[in-house]
Amino acid sequence: MKTKEQYYFFLNPYEEFAFTRCPKCETKTKIKKFCLLIHIEPHHLLVLNKITRYCPYCDLIIVKKEELEQVLCVSCEKQFPEIIGNDYFVLGTMERNDWKKGLQEKMFSKDAIDRAHLFKDIWSFEVERGGWVYDPKLDKLNTKKSNKSKVC
Ligand SMILES: [Zn+2]
Repeated sequence: MKTKEQYYFFLNPYEEFAFTRCPKCETKTKIKKFCLLIHIEPHHLLVLNKITRYCPYCDLIIVKKEELEQVLCVSCEKQFPEIIGNDYFVLGTMERNDWKKGLQEKMFSKDAIDRAHLFKDIWSFEVERGGWVYDPKLDKLNTKKSNKSKVC
């Protein structure tokens, strides 16, 4: 089964900004829970059921990096303490039902990726003159890099 790509993703590196408005269209963002599929080097997959900011017009999920890393750190400590400090990146989202099924059946990584919705794209935003500006150049250069960070 081939899954559709879904949503755009922005990993918010700024502690002081919650993005109550979408950085692209300035609509008020909603608070929505998503099951995020996260790859941690070298070969671990984690699914976190996480509250995020979501813009329904842009289809953009915004996750605070600091919050994500706190949850990641706690999950890793319990399950795989050996990978704390490794690089990770957020691959996409999963349906709640698939996530629950995975918890029960111990879904293998390949199945999890098959069922996941990978992101359509990863966006970056930078502060400029007090406002948020979408920078496509930055995207091209850093799409993979900017989404890749270390656990803890
Ligand atoms: Zn928007």
